Amino acid sequence: MIRDAGPVPAVRGGRGPRGRPHSRDALRNLCQLVQDMTTIALDLDDTLVDTTRVLLDWFEARTGRRLPDEKLATYELGADAAETDALVAAFHADRMDREIAALDGAAEACRQLATSGFRLVVVTSRKAEISAHTIDLVERCFPATFAEIHSIGYTADKAVTLRDLDVALFVDDHFRHVAQAASAGIPSILFRDLPWNRNRAWPHRAADWAEALALGTALLRAARNNVEDAALLRRGSSIFQRSG
Ligand SMILES: [Mg+2]
Repeated sequence: MIRDAGPVPAVRGGRGPRGRPHSRDALRNLCQLVQDMTTIALDLDDTLVDTTRVLLDWFEARTGRRLPDEKLATYELGADAAETDALVAAFHADRMDREIAALDGAAEACRQLATSGFRLVVVTSRKAEISAHTIDLVERCFPATFAEIHSIGYTADKAVTLRDLDVALFVDDHFRHVAQAASAGIPSILFRDLPWNRNRAWPHRAADWAEALALGTALLRAARNNVEDAALLRRGSSIFQRSG
């Protein structure tokens, strides 16, 4: 049974296998290890599942109004933050998560990544208070696919959790999270063309899961090549120092 691990505690000592001196065999083992243990973090709402579609329908049925794009762009469901929080809480109290479905191609893409040996985690801004709903949603749409869920709340910086999880690739529909992750050195994909992200310039954008899979593979390959190059450079440097 998957659990919601919440935010990751403060940074621990070592950060995995990267950055150690290597013999040729150790380097080969390292590259295999890096490939096998690579963690990919995915946002949940509107990245893996179609939350906003269900939320808009629910909101319209409840209020008689359809939220315009400019409200969605800033996630202003209510007149202020407190009303927005209350509406989101009511949405979950109505068990509307049961109406949410995986986005086209998401389940297949995640299955491919998981069966290829990647470790998949969800990092979501959902509050820990609705963790039971979140776990049910992830398990229903992506059975036995994700190793962990981290519900860190609306205001937390996802980059902190991503760094502590040693994430190698991150996909999210929200520009702020993607920009913060990239600033922390994590290759990050801004996902889909949505009212809240379409006016944001970003070098790595994917319109759907087929594009995200192709772009993510390219980014991971580039990152792995950088690790190998850096290790070879360090090894060459140490040989040079010994012989000098
Ligand atoms: Mg999202």
